[in-house]
Amino acid sequence: MNNVSRIPSYLSPEHLGPWETFLIQVDRVEPHLAPELRPLTPILTRPMRALIVDVPIRLDSGEMAHFEGYRVQHNLARGPGKGGIRFHPQVTLSEVMALSAWMTVKNAVVNVPFGGAKGGVRVDPKQLSLAELERLTRRYTSEIHILLGQDKDIPAPDINTNEQTMAWIMDTYSMNEGRTTMGVVTGKPVSLGGSLGRKDATGRGVFVTTVEAARHLGLEIAGARVAVQGFGNVGEAAARLFAEAGARVVALQDGSGSIANPAGLDLQAVKAWRQTQRSLLGAPGAETIDAERFWSTDADILVVAAMENQINAANAGLIRARLIVEGANGPTTPEADLILQERGITVIPDVLANAGGVTVSYFEWVQDISAFFWTEDEINARLDRIMREAFAAVWEAARSKGIVLRTAAFVLGCERVLLAHKLRGLYP
Ligand code: NAD
Repeated sequence: MNNVSRIPSYLSPEHLGPWETFLIQVDRVEPHLAPELRPLTPILTRPMRALIVDVPIRLDSGEMAHFEGYRVQHNLARGPGKGGIRFHPQVTLSEVMALSAWMTVKNAVVNVPFGGAKGGVRVDPKQLSLAELERLTRRYTSEIHILLGQDKDIPAPDINTNEQTMAWIMDTYSMNEGRTTMGVVTGKPVSLGGSLGRKDATGRGVFVTTVEAARHLGLEIAGARVAVQGFGNVGEAAARLFAEAGARVVALQDGSGSIANPAGLDLQAVKAWRQTQRSLLGAPGAETIDAERFWSTDADILVVAAMENQINAANAGLIRARLIVEGANGPTTPEADLILQERGITVIPDVLANAGGVTVSYFEWVQDISAFFWTEDEINARLDRIMREAFAAVWEAARSKGIVLRTAAFVLGCERVLLAHKLRGLYP
């Protein structure tokens, strides 16, 4: 089937965006799927449900403003929907659809019993006061309430949403239901049913999968030079764990620009500077560099933990790292994937590398439902084991089939999803 017939009528071809990336990834994986599952592939190329909501709020000035929100459930064959909520001025339906589909594949790759979902509001949260942001979060939660539930669809943090946002979502849902329901959302504060280890979990998964890949590639983490794009929840935790393991973080980039120090950046000083100045630029012991120099940094490992489409045909040729690790979702375009493959650069794909977040979200959900909480050591040990096992399975699939890690991860994930469909059968 070609991609044109796979485009849903509500998404005009000129607004394909990240959804097209997902469709190309499915095309690349299809020939490698088990023959008995291959005919079911079209199920993956359409989201099961997509809800578009108006989110009207009263601004502090007394005026009313409208924002557009989405919640997409891509696939629920393996369990309730699971996936984060993003607040960003460039959120589109296409983006949320792609993010929800990557959640389907990711949850299957690490074998947690969830389907794929994602949500977002097209808003620049920096333009809103805290009170406005709370009203926006609560109204959005009420609008998508019909989809939510601890056994239906369980949101989590993503770009520009955090523990506080998740606490507001839990409270709003619970107020509307008339009972406190901790398990309806993950990434909550620890004092409100959140899990120890959740904050660092995605960065930790990035680190653990990098250690595994480095072992296969004969690359020492101690002394390795690492460049990191994105210094938020994922990028900051990953950078810190690399530094703790003796690696040198030699370049950093976020929305404010790029900085470098070939001898290694002092991450604590950079973080403190960013907190007060709201920018990386000018941080102590760091030189400001332009984007081109960031991408061509002389590093062994490049971690991308910002947004989609960051590694593309324009910069894939500049990258000097041997290993790229996708902390972000969809950071590499399909064209760039081919360039990197040709150049012999190993890419640990998003659906594997950043699955640590949803894995500990799964632990949080289990703890909330059973009302029994685990220690941080237990959580980290279980997370490390799941990430290492998933990495080993993907690495072995790539080796035995002679395919890149992204295709191998998709084979593993998609086959699990399609097998669930095959066993459940087609209703009615
Ligand atoms: P965040 O909002 O905490 O941080 C995002 C970072 O990216 C910030 O440092 C921001 O300045 C930077 N950034 C944004 N636009 C940029 C640009 N154009 N160029 C360079 N830097 C830019 O978000 P996060 O939670 O760390 O998420 C980052 C990525 O990781 C996203 O793709 C998200 O979907 C993915 N992810 C997050 C989690 C999680 O647990 N938070 C889990 C899995 C995947």
